[in-house]
Amino acid sequence: MTTTRREFIVASLGSAVGLCAALAASHAARADDKLSESDPAAKAVGYVTVAAKADKARFPDFKAGQTCSNCSLFQGNPADAWGGCTLFGTKQVAGGGWCSSYTNM
Ligand code: SF4
Repeated sequence: MTTTRREFIVASLGSAVGLCAALAASHAARADDKLSESDPAAKAVGYVTVAAKADKARFPDFKAGQTCSNCSLFQGNPADAWGGCTLFGTKQVAGGGWCSSYTNM
Protein backbone atom coordinates (compact mmCIF):
# COMPACT_ATOMS: atom_id res chain seq x y z
CA MET A 1 0.00 0.00 0.00
CA THR A 2 1.31 3.41 -0.90
CA THR A 3 0.56 6.68 0.83
CA THR A 4 -0.54 9.55 -1.33
CA ARG A 5 0.82 13.03 -0.79
CA ARG A 6 -2.64 14.12 0.38
CA GLU A 7 -2.84 11.30 2.96
CA PHE A 8 0.65 12.17 4.19
CA ILE A 9 -0.22 15.86 4.59
CA VAL A 10 -3.50 15.10 6.40
CA ALA A 11 -1.73 12.69 8.76
CA SER A 12 1.03 15.24 9.42
CA LEU A 13 -1.48 17.99 10.20
CA GLY A 14 -3.29 15.68 12.62
CA SER A 15 -0.04 15.03 14.44
CA ALA A 16 0.77 18.74 14.57
CA VAL A 17 -2.64 19.57 16.05
CA GLY A 18 -2.16 16.87 18.68
CA LEU A 19 1.27 18.23 19.56
CA CYS A 20 -0.10 21.78 19.88
CA ALA A 21 -2.84 20.57 22.24
CA ALA A 22 -0.27 18.76 24.37
CA LEU A 23 1.96 21.84 24.51
CA ALA A 24 -0.99 24.05 25.46
CA ALA A 25 -1.92 21.68 28.28
CA SER A 26 1.68 21.66 29.46
CA HIS A 27 1.80 25.47 29.44
CA ALA A 28 -1.44 25.65 31.43
CA ALA A 29 0.00 23.30 34.02
CA ARG A 30 3.08 25.47 34.37
CA ALA A 31 0.96 28.60 34.80
CA ASP A 32 -0.58 26.94 37.85
CA ASP A 33 2.86 26.54 39.37
CA LYS A 34 3.15 30.14 40.47
CA LEU A 35 4.53 30.42 43.98
CA SER A 36 1.90 31.66 46.41
CA GLU A 37 2.80 34.15 49.13
CA SER A 38 0.97 31.83 51.53
CA ASP A 39 3.22 28.87 50.70
CA PRO A 40 5.11 28.04 53.93
CA ALA A 41 8.47 28.15 52.10
CA ALA A 42 7.56 31.55 50.65
CA LYS A 43 6.45 32.88 54.02
CA ALA A 44 9.71 31.76 55.60
CA VAL A 45 11.68 34.12 53.38
CA GLY A 46 9.05 36.87 53.19
CA TYR A 47 8.31 36.35 49.49
CA VAL A 48 5.90 38.87 47.98
CA THR A 49 4.75 39.13 44.36
CA VAL A 50 5.20 42.91 44.44
CA ALA A 51 8.57 43.98 45.85
CA ALA A 52 7.23 47.27 47.22
CA LYS A 53 5.05 45.23 49.59
CA ALA A 54 8.08 43.63 51.28
CA ASP A 55 7.86 43.72 55.07
CA LYS A 56 10.48 46.43 55.71
CA ALA A 57 10.20 46.02 59.49
CA ARG A 58 10.99 42.29 59.27
CA PHE A 59 13.54 42.75 56.47
CA PRO A 60 15.31 46.10 56.98
CA ASP A 61 17.93 45.20 54.36
CA PHE A 62 15.31 45.47 51.59
CA LYS A 63 16.15 48.25 49.14
CA ALA A 64 13.86 49.77 46.52
CA GLY A 65 14.73 48.42 43.09
CA GLN A 66 15.46 44.91 44.30
CA THR A 67 13.16 42.50 42.44
CA CYS A 68 13.22 38.87 41.44
CA SER A 69 13.92 39.87 37.85
CA ASN A 70 17.31 41.32 38.83
CA CYS A 71 18.13 38.70 41.47
CA SER A 72 20.95 36.29 40.67
CA LEU A 73 18.73 33.34 41.58
CA PHE A 74 15.99 34.25 39.03
CA GLN A 75 15.90 31.73 36.18
CA GLY A 76 13.78 33.76 33.75
CA ASN A 77 14.78 36.61 31.51
CA PRO A 78 14.78 40.09 33.10
CA ALA A 79 11.63 41.08 31.17
CA ASP A 80 9.67 37.94 32.11
CA ALA A 81 6.61 38.46 34.31
CA TRP A 82 7.23 35.07 35.93
CA GLY A 83 10.23 32.79 36.04
CA GLY A 84 11.90 30.07 37.99
CA CYS A 85 13.96 30.62 41.12
CA THR A 86 16.64 28.26 42.34
CA LEU A 87 15.07 28.39 45.82
CA PHE A 88 11.65 27.13 44.81
CA GLY A 89 12.16 24.21 42.45
CA THR A 90 9.48 24.08 39.76
CA LYS A 91 7.49 27.01 41.17
CA GLN A 92 7.53 30.30 39.29
CA VAL A 93 8.14 33.60 41.08
CA ALA A 94 6.95 37.02 39.96
CA GLY A 95 9.56 39.07 38.11
CA GLY A 96 8.47 42.04 40.19
CA GLY A 97 8.53 40.05 43.41
CA TRP A 98 11.07 39.85 46.18
CA CYS A 99 12.20 37.72 49.10
CA SER A 100 14.83 38.03 51.81
CA SER A 101 17.17 35.69 49.91
CA TYR A 102 17.57 38.34 47.23
CA THR A 103 21.10 38.50 45.90
CA ASN A 104 22.68 40.31 43.00
CA MET A 105 26.31 39.34 42.55
S1 SF4 B 1 15.71 34.34 45.71
FE1 SF4 B 1 15.62 36.07 44.27
S2 SF4 B 1 14.42 35.31 42.53
FE2 SF4 B 1 14.06 33.91 44.22
S3 SF4 B 1 12.19 34.66 45.22
FE3 SF4 B 1 13.92 35.57 46.28
S4 SF4 B 1 14.30 37.56 45.30
FE4 SF4 B 1 12.99 36.33 43.94
